Amino acid sequence: DLWESRGHIEFDEVTFGYNGEKTILPNFSLDIPAGQTIALVGTTGAGKSTLAKLISRFYDPSIGRVTLDRVDLRNLHPKDLRRAIVMVTQEAYLFSGTVADNIALGKPDASLDEIRAAARAVGADEFISSLPDGYGTDVNKRGGRVSAGQRQLISFARAFLADPAVLILDEATASLDIPSERLIQDALQTLLKDRTAIIIAHRLSTVAIADRVLVMEHGAIIEDDTPETL
Ligand code: ATP
Ligand code: MG
Repeated sequence: DLWESRGHIEFDEVTFGYNGEKTILPNFSLDIPAGQTIALVGTTGAGKSTLAKLISRFYDPSIGRVTLDRVDLRNLHPKDLRRAIVMVTQEAYLFSGTVADNIALGKPDASLDEIRAAARAVGADEFISSLPDGYGTDVNKRGGRVSAGQRQLISFARAFLADPAVLILDEATASLDIPSERLIQDALQTLLKDRTAIIIAHRLSTVAIADRVLVMEHGAIIEDDTPETL
């Protein structure tokens, strides 16, 4: 139970369709070396989120396998899987509770110092400290007191504290205000360091910081290159 993932993800001839309906990924293979930052782009319905859901094991392949460090995800202990692979979604979901509780979601035994350090790392400490009760401020279910950009920063702090080997990020499509857009770009750089990252990217600035850009269409990778070449 002290297993540490390196973060090497591989799709090995995966075929997948939801509820045995039409095939979304036909015989799909992809190797993502440990530590690489991938920007995944492509038209709507291409299969980007499906790919992310297979890595997070929301679904299993119909045929083939997805592996982490060469181990089939189906053979990993759910606890190890949850620790190794974290997905941050567009909604940046906050539950009812304090800001601190929300950041510590993946690490409930974290001290306030650790929580603050994570927030500081992603540039969220300043706005949190300015809230009425700081880290003790209650956020309601809809995150009413915090803006979309701030919500995103809280979810980044949460992911930073959880420190997974693999981070999957479905980037927000909604445009954020200019300062928080800058803040989020900087936060992203910090968050991606020293781990494998797969970002479903909607911003050109995100694509630019990736090691590798994958363009997806109809469940297949049609381009696989560096951002400079594309
Ligand atoms: P977008 O850019 O719009 O988010 P995407 O590339 O993430 O698109 P997916 O969400 O992976 O695309 O969808 C790929 C295909 O799978 C689409 O045809 C979609 O209709 C279908 N699909 C997605 N989720 C489900 C589901 N839960 N049940 C059945 N079909 C689904
Ligand atoms: Mg999607």
